[in-house]
Amino acid sequence: MSTERSRLLSWRHPAVVATRLTRPAAAAVGAISLTAALLVAAVPAVDAAGPPGQADRSGAPRLVARAGERMVSYPGLAVAWPAPQVSVSSAHAVRGLVSAPGVGATATLQRLVVGVWTDVISTPVAPSGSFMLPLPSFYFGHFSYRLRITAAGVDPVETPALPVAVVPTYRPAGRDTSYALISPSPVGRWDPCTPIGYRVNLAEARQGALRDVQSALARIAVATGLQFRYLGTTDVVPFAGDDPFDPSVADLVVAWTDPASVPGLFQPGNYALGGPEMRPGHDIAGGPVRQIYQGGVTFNSAFNAALKPGSGKGYTRVAALMHELGHAVGLFHVTGDGAEIMSPSLARDRDQWGAGDLAGLEAVGAVNGCVTADSPARGNGSDAQALPTRD
Ligand SMILES: [Zn+2]
Repeated sequence: MSTERSRLLSWRHPAVVATRLTRPAAAAVGAISLTAALLVAAVPAVDAAGPPGQADRSGAPRLVARAGERMVSYPGLAVAWPAPQVSVSSAHAVRGLVSAPGVGATATLQRLVVGVWTDVISTPVAPSGSFMLPLPSFYFGHFSYRLRITAAGVDPVETPALPVAVVPTYRPAGRDTSYALISPSPVGRWDPCTPIGYRVNLAEARQGALRDVQSALARIAVATGLQFRYLGTTDVVPFAGDDPFDPSVADLVVAWTDPASVPGLFQPGNYALGGPEMRPGHDIAGGPVRQIYQGGVTFNSAFNAALKPGSGKGYTRVAALMHELGHAVGLFHVTGDGAEIMSPSLARDRDQWGAGDLAGLEAVGAVNGCVTADSPARGNGSDAQALPTRD
């Protein structure tokens, strides 16, 4: 199976490795005040059995560790954090016990996003001082969390940051440095806070193609936190014209087309094209981002018979879709690590993201928060113009 072309963009980006858009922690979020009236009592005893928040014989509530949890004591606050690594989609909670909860005490789980502490979820603290907050684990990534306890008339209290990695249920092959971004600086990525609407053009596809698109998108979603919404079918063929397609059709289109119907679209040996369109944008800290606002994948139907439906052994349609959709969410080819789906050539029997794929998908994913376009108009300005595709 030969290489395929990737959509490249008219704007020039420096050829540097991916750079995270990190900023110093925002100072305005709130001050740590361990002497606040909220925290007057000593940390309660912690033992190794029994349910959380259980009262002991003296009537004092206790926080009890469960298997794998990290018990951390802060002045006036004990917290059972999940393990440093949790499997994706496994259920975890952050449980805590405030020694002397103030009036209207509230516990908030916050996540560090491009240097800004951002609320994830809040819950009232019970009169006993206990609280429990679910920890999101629906996509892979390396996250930094903290707790913020507020109450009427006292300064908020914030714990130091604590890392939690959400990891796959399999052990990825390859190296976590083995990835390249189409736009490394500023990073080119979709807005993870808005669902990506997609359509499929199945006119030249074989049976089961839509199911395989959805399977591949699910694998993108679990690795990025991006959300995809199926909008139906279309007759659009991405990259067949000067622009990928009319933006009113969908954000993302996956098509199969007969190469004879679009002369020049495919080079000899190309089984598919995939790529993004980008425009200027910024993250929640105001840092620059190349916002991907459109993505396309077009398969050469001459190779339909070469790709097995589904995933698993052989050259599979799901693996090919993962690769092309990887381009559409901002990943470029990586060479020298055959374990990666984003290697230039499709590989036999390889249908799981490698360690480098996962690191790249994290870099373009929801870990780094929402993206806002600098201009609300789609496709405006020279920045959104596309160059002819190249190999
Ligand atoms: Zn490719």
